[in-house]
Amino acid sequence: MSARIPPDLPDDIFKIVFEKSPGSLLVKGDAPCFTIVAASDTYLEVTSSTRETIIGKGFFEAFPEDKTLTDDTNARVIFNKVVKTGQKIDVPAYRFDVYNPQTKAAEIRYWSCNNTPILNADKNVAYILNTVVDITNEVRAREAVVENENRLRMATEAASMATWDLGLRDLTFICSPRMNEIFGHDSNKQLPLDVLRIQVDAEDMKNIVVPAYNEALHTGHYLYEVRIYWPDGSLRWIKTQGIVIYDEKKEPARMLGTIIDITDSKRDEIRKNDFIAMASHELKTPLTSIKAYLQIMSKKLGPVSDSFINSVLQKANIQVNKMADLIHGFLDLSKLESGKLQLKMATFDMNKLIKDTILETSLLSPGRAIKFVQKKELTVYADSEKISQVISNFLSNAFKYSDKETPIVVTSAKNNGCVCVSVTDKGIGIKPKDQEKLFQRFYRVESEKMKNISGFGIGLYLASEIIQRHKGTIGVESEEGRGATFYFMLPETT
Ligand code: ADP
Repeated sequence: MSARIPPDLPDDIFKIVFEKSPGSLLVKGDAPCFTIVAASDTYLEVTSSTRETIIGKGFFEAFPEDKTLTDDTNARVIFNKVVKTGQKIDVPAYRFDVYNPQTKAAEIRYWSCNNTPILNADKNVAYILNTVVDITNEVRAREAVVENENRLRMATEAASMATWDLGLRDLTFICSPRMNEIFGHDSNKQLPLDVLRIQVDAEDMKNIVVPAYNEALHTGHYLYEVRIYWPDGSLRWIKTQGIVIYDEKKEPARMLGTIIDITDSKRDEIRKNDFIAMASHELKTPLTSIKAYLQIMSKKLGPVSDSFINSVLQKANIQVNKMADLIHGFLDLSKLESGKLQLKMATFDMNKLIKDTILETSLLSPGRAIKFVQKKELTVYADSEKISQVISNFLSNAFKYSDKETPIVVTSAKNNGCVCVSVTDKGIGIKPKDQEKLFQRFYRVESEKMKNISGFGIGLYLASEIIQRHKGTIGVESEEGRGATFYFMLPETT
């Protein structure tokens, strides 16, 4: 491409137009000198020069040649090429530092320029129009982005994290090289999503990945732990966390996230669970024997008038029952963690179950006033033993966290096709910030009042897992210092 100055344009008009144009310089095609003929105001400004000092001078006399530039960006090479070929040459980005008279130092600047030949009547290059644009800010912004990306990459690498990006419409998938290591692949080649999906444990894919994905489309968040199998068959655990990016129509467009290998901590957890399971199992047998001996002893003694013996026997029974509950809790916890907690579903009368459980649990706190407000005929299809365990946990907590003199109220009712059971006490109550966390494993409220009350924080966690497995809901309503109501709801059998 080349240009011609319109022949009928008066010289003075051309001069004004040229001088007001953005960064433009006109040099003669008189290689190797390339005499400067005209310069626009902007060109002078950006190069910190004046018309008097550069017009009439050779280009390289006015602007000393930067020998560090490559052939693609070196002005002498480019000007010569334009003269030789008569073709326009663009240089998208190059560095050329300029002298700042205020700071009296060279300033780093980035430019992009076009070099357009202007032909004479003989089709020779008479002039070259050199237009430059200062792109320093754009280059700096691009450098900042690259620097941020590098920092992020270094941080994720330091945390041994892999990053991934999934396009939800076309399922395009990009991940960082660390993903290959986490999934046990030697090469650094981009792994297709299918290869990674096949490595996820089939059960976990069905029960965890698919529901989490569907839920994320609504909630915008993604978090789960699953088992994967390396190509050599070994079992590993990974934890992935991500967010959904929505388009302008608020439709899910992409998912971004991280993956970490949690095999070591999972193995530790499994070892700990195995230990708890083993220890609880070993403790269960002698405890069952002690319980049986106590019963035999009571039977053999018959009705005794000695109040000391009576009270010692009663206390011994209470302690044995407390220990049995604790051990059953630990056993259930380890069954739950290893996915072995099975429900034995059957239809039963909820009110009868509540009455039996109150009777059994009240042995832990003899003489305690428990009022049961019941609704007629409440039949449910559930695991009666596990539901009794939940009620018993609510009751024993009510004993623990309220004064002996205050009453406890148990209710059963029908509500929107659900059977609802609640236990209310007038005890220490729970702050709102703790209420959300009570159903987490090992969570106990930290307070002065709690210091002397023993517990492990597993009862409510088990209760919540049991109710969730019944597709029910569990919750608490409470005000600090004014007691608490723990409740659960189960779908009613029709
Ligand atoms: P534990 O009672 O063995 O600590 P739980 O899982 O049964 O374990 O209860 C978890 C925590 O919830 C308790 O430590 C206590 O802080 C709080 N909590 C449970 N029930 C009540 C209640 N009725 N009143 C006040 N706080 C309660």
